[in-house]
Amino acid sequence: MQRRDAIVVGGGPAGSTVARALVGAGLSVAVLDKRSFPRDKTCAGWITPAVVKSLALDLEDYARARVLQPIRRFRIARFGDRPVENDHGAAPVSYGIRRFEFDDYLLRRSGAELATGVAVERIERRGADWVVNGELAAPLLVGAGGHFCPVARHLGAQVGRAEPAVGAQEFEVEMTPDEAAASPVRGDTPQLYFAPDLAGYAWIFRKGDWLNVGIGRVGADKVSEHFDRFVERMRKEGMLPERLAESKRKGHAYLLYTDATRPLVADGALLVGDAAGLAYPESGEGIRTAVESALLAARVLRACGGDYSAAKLAPYARAIEARYGPRRRVPAAGPALAGPAKRALAALLLRTHWFTREIVTRRWFLHEHVPPLSA
Ligand SMILES: Cc1cc2nc3c(=O)[nH]c(=O)nc-3n(C[C@H](O)[C@H](O)[C@H](O)COP(=O)(O)OP(=O)(O)OC[C@H]3O[C@@H](n4cnc5c(N)ncnc54)[C@H](O)[C@@H]3O)c2cc1C
Repeated sequence: MQRRDAIVVGGGPAGSTVARALVGAGLSVAVLDKRSFPRDKTCAGWITPAVVKSLALDLEDYARARVLQPIRRFRIARFGDRPVENDHGAAPVSYGIRRFEFDDYLLRRSGAELATGVAVERIERRGADWVVNGELAAPLLVGAGGHFCPVARHLGAQVGRAEPAVGAQEFEVEMTPDEAAASPVRGDTPQLYFAPDLAGYAWIFRKGDWLNVGIGRVGADKVSEHFDRFVERMRKEGMLPERLAESKRKGHAYLLYTDATRPLVADGALLVGDAAGLAYPESGEGIRTAVESALLAARVLRACGGDYSAAKLAPYARAIEARYGPRRRVPAAGPALAGPAKRALAALLLRTHWFTREIVTRRWFLHEHVPPLSA
């Protein structure tokens, strides 16, 4: 049996961030991920400056060998209406990254011992230790395995059952040089199209020569049909080259913070990022909350002095509620869908520069009013 101070399950942004902070505090940390890195992750790949700050990301170093797309403008519409375009000035208000590169960069930078291509299949409690797959033991187990995290399951989360998850589909494809030159999609201008029923939105987002096209909807109902319509529309409008419209799609699910009831802490264990269900409700942005929850967890873990009892970890749950608001204690009966009055009002507001710029972009998507956590 091998022993470490901490085992982190999942090497996405939540896992790599908590691992890095714990390694920095002098702990021996093993990160286990079922995939071999670099790996794709179903995601638009949009990060805000707050994420850059919290990760203390050296953008110059990052961009040397990776796609880093500065974002300065947004095109926003209710699906079927003419988009409203807003210019946010010369300084980037966000960046486009490819998760294939971003997650690998962060994981390698963490300094933790990496066991990739290793799925966590068995989790047991033996005395004060957690034992993973019968061969690795530690007094601390961090669940950072995303929506289907095995640690969340072990702690009692009803993964895939009784959880009103967002259903999402996406593809990310590289354009040929000719397609890139002819493409009307600008890298600095992501396009967002809200569903008339306000259950979600679709996007087309260019990062260098890569196009990312996707959709997310609460309730996970008929996601494919909605995505078919969107892809067809983008193809017809010339946004999506003919050759790429049939690209293979990837699907995934995740929980919005306001819908999640997963436990945050247990004796010797805690959940961070999507494993805990932390994505911002309006935008579905989950990289920021993954990174922030990892930093908040690391702060609490450092103060524990090696005593990882649930009582000692409880300040982590309090820190999450202090930052994102009270958590739901019982699951919602179903997805909260907008009524006719709200839909009609949204149809009007989404045609205005003020609403799309100040509310949709600056407040819901960029969260400019929430100061970043420092690394
Ligand atoms: C279509 C789509 C678009 C999105 N777009 C954005 C966006 O543009 N910006 C944004 O901020 N957020 C976006 N999100 C949300 C964002 O992708 C997630 O919130 C974020 O990835 C959460 O990070 P994480 O580290 O918690 O989990 P993940 O990134 O999901 O990482 C979890 C890791 O755990 C590993 N794992 C899972 N099970 C096991 C196991 N049994 N054993 C070992 N390892 C395991 C997985 O392989 C994975 O590497 C999007 C989500 C979707 C679905």
